[in-house]
Amino acid sequence: MSHEGIRFLSEEEARKAAAAERELPRDATEPLHVRVRKTEGTGMEIVWKDGHASQWSFTWLRDACPCATCHEEREQEQRQPGEPKPQPKNMLPMYKEPLRPVQVQTVGRYAISFEWNDGHHSGIFSWEYLRRMCHCDACKNQASR
Ligand SMILES: [Zn+2]
Ligand SMILES: [Zn+2]
Repeated sequence: MSHEGIRFLSEEEARKAAAAERELPRDATEPLHVRVRKTEGTGMEIVWKDGHASQWSFTWLRDACPCATCHEEREQEQRQPGEPKPQPKNMLPMYKEPLRPVQVQTVGRYAISFEWNDGHHSGIFSWEYLRRMCHCDACKNQASR
């Protein structure tokens, strides 16, 4: 028996792989409070059962839409979830109505979905997806470490 050909992950690679596949504890993916600031138009806030709090702007959520169409579009443009679409350079900035949901619905016990004022409504945001997409300072530091 020889170990030839086996590639060992560096400690950093191993840690990153482990973080990506890390199972989240149940309390981390079950919301205690969900607040969708539809009228103010500012975004959504979730306080999780483990006490952690997350918030996202509506624009961010729209750009992180997990539906197949948006996912594919992001893959093609190599955008991360939540990363805005590049604006065509030779176009005058146009006034766009700020993105906000016209309807919000929970989907069973595991997800939430939005009908946006741009007409799109096929994205189902699971609690787990949202928790993994938490971009508070603590989570961001953990992801880039
Ligand atoms: Zn979508
Ligand atoms: Zn966080």
